[in-house]
Amino acid sequence: MKFLKWNRQKFTFMVIPDANSQVVRFRLSSGWLFGALIAVAIVTISAAVALVLYGDRKTEVARLKHQLADATGKYEQIISDKDRHIGDLQTEVADLSDQAKSIQDKMADIGKLETQLKQIAGLEKPSSGSAGSGEGTAAESEGYAMDGGTGGEELPVTDGEIADMVEETRQNFADLGQWIEEMKPRLEETKDAVLKQQKKLMATPTIWPVDSRKITSTFGVRKDPFTHRARFHAGIDISGDTGDPVYATADGVVSHTGRDGDHGNNILVSHGNGLTTHYSHLSKILVKPGAKVRKGEIIGEMGSTGRSTGPHLHYEVYVKGTHVDPKPYLQTDRKDD
Ligand SMILES: [Zn+2]
Repeated sequence: MKFLKWNRQKFTFMVIPDANSQVVRFRLSSGWLFGALIAVAIVTISAAVALVLYGDRKTEVARLKHQLADATGKYEQIISDKDRHIGDLQTEVADLSDQAKSIQDKMADIGKLETQLKQIAGLEKPSSGSAGSGEGTAAESEGYAMDGGTGGEELPVTDGEIADMVEETRQNFADLGQWIEEMKPRLEETKDAVLKQQKKLMATPTIWPVDSRKITSTFGVRKDPFTHRARFHAGIDISGDTGDPVYATADGVVSHTGRDGDHGNNILVSHGNGLTTHYSHLSKILVKPGAKVRKGEIIGEMGSTGRSTGPHLHYEVYVKGTHVDPKPYLQTDRKDD
């Protein structure tokens, strides 16, 4: 479409639109032409440089995009792991909370047992419906039922709920720790009281002095078998066979053994607390004065010595030197103790 024609210093350009149109010509000096060529070169080079730079940018952007995607993937994985960890920890908190409550319930049971022990030991009087409930440790706080046993709608726990549960569980365990600290000396005290009570029980006549249960004469006024006149019977008569074992009815010390016209062979055992038991009409005495005897220990044999019409044991109980009815002291068999 265009061509140029060399003209020493000037160049003429002709533009021929088509065969029927007029030719347009214009002239340029060589300086102008040179300038224009330089300009075209600069524009071309600039464009080329821009293209190269743009291409680099594009590659860089793509690389960064790729890096970002990688990083995002990793962070998503980390967040997902953390979420799972948090879920596990929440479950552990819930388990701990349940454990604390379960321990509290058990401790409350122990508290009730302790109260019952105290009542048995006579440390505490039985009171209606307050056994062990005064400690105020167990199962008073509201719980989060986390076992999901009943199904129904399940909502994710909130951070606030978990924080409350953690605080509640921490407090529950702290209460338990304190309660155990307080419980120890109380149990020691109860143990001492129970031991004391046990000792007292062992020193209290509670068992039958012979195996026979045949009471032939009770405590009180009766007709004397020899004189047939009213006479005060200071003990209880239990009949049996000569040679039947006679037992000490409580722990104690043999304070007297001997033989006299009324009692025949007889033994006195002192149990402390002003309590003494007396065993008469024995065929044999098997202990010596001063001997320590245990509840249920054989101290003699049944007989019919002294004022007696047949083999039987005449058994007396003294409280502070006064005869009392032995019947209330015959509470258990020897083997039960
Ligand atoms: Zn008698």
